[in-house]
Amino acid sequence: MIQEKHSLQRSFNSEKLRKWFFVNRRSLPWRENPSPYEVWVSEVMLQQTRVSVVIPYFKKWMERFPTISSLAAAPMETVIKAWEGLGYYSRARNLKQGAEYLCQQYGGELPDSYVALQEVKGLGPYTIGAILSFAFKKKVPAIDGNVLRVLSRFFALEEPIDKGKTQKRIRELCLAILPDNEPWIIMEALIELGALVCQKKAKCHACPLNHQCLGKEKADLLPNKRKKEKTIHLHRDVAVIYSGTELLLRKGSQGKVMADLWEFPYFDRGSNMEAILGMSLVPKRALQEISHGFTKYKAFLYPHLYEGEKTSLVNYFWIPFDAARKLPFSSGHRRIIHDLRNNSILDI
Ligand code: SF4
Repeated sequence: MIQEKHSLQRSFNSEKLRKWFFVNRRSLPWRENPSPYEVWVSEVMLQQTRVSVVIPYFKKWMERFPTISSLAAAPMETVIKAWEGLGYYSRARNLKQGAEYLCQQYGGELPDSYVALQEVKGLGPYTIGAILSFAFKKKVPAIDGNVLRVLSRFFALEEPIDKGKTQKRIRELCLAILPDNEPWIIMEALIELGALVCQKKAKCHACPLNHQCLGKEKADLLPNKRKKEKTIHLHRDVAVIYSGTELLLRKGSQGKVMADLWEFPYFDRGSNMEAILGMSLVPKRALQEISHGFTKYKAFLYPHLYEGEKTSLVNYFWIPFDAARKLPFSSGHRRIIHDLRNNSILDI
């Protein structure tokens, strides 16, 4: 193993990568001597989301919740509202619950051990690696999609990248090539190389690892992946029901994808809404159709405006227009609110 480590370090020119990194690295708000909390928040925001989208959210988040304790003390609704538009809302809920846990167990600080960080809600191997590497300056691999792509090509690994065994091997390889001196710089440089050069379409001519890379000739074919899970299409009728100046809304149930987000009543396409809701509806007009994706689903929403009698319904709330506007909505339903507002369909 020690022999392998030395030969890997020889084949991987970390000095070249380091020099390339200092010239080419992007200046990002979470990069300059970040606190563990800043690394945590930025890495969670960056999951499934582009850097350019994350930057303004990160800045606002840090103004609004500058410390772990301030995040723990904020109401869940405020936290979700601050996340509105970033999608995958379980990330915001996990941050908030993680912050509460850290206040109870560690005085509002992130601990610097892998085992302790595993207990924090929502922290997986990559984010833990990033916190230990970038904030605590430890020699720990942080393997994200960029690093998987770079190393699978650099070592010409043919095994499917989404298999646990391959990822374990890449983790071992990464640990072996990280230098003892300032390993966090090479760790971040690998991520940056994947983001800027060893992209889906590799720019090998601009790569500092070009001479040693074993997979550059077949970069287009690597990394290998198993077949993707099929997207499931959902078709839903959405009932936008108002009575006077109030809207009928419900909140996503705990444990579901849309927990803590508000939504209009929706039903499988063609359902008898009046029978399900137990109320009479006066159809007013069709609204703009919307499609949006989340996790493995693609939802097609067919909203229609109705006027209804203000009756009380289990799990539903009548919310005044001006209050509804300020609530966090799931992305498809937020677009319905915008449609109502921008096109002056309701005085919302
Ligand atoms: S030489 Fe090409 S394939 Fe190899 S690491 Fe660099 S960009 Fe990726």
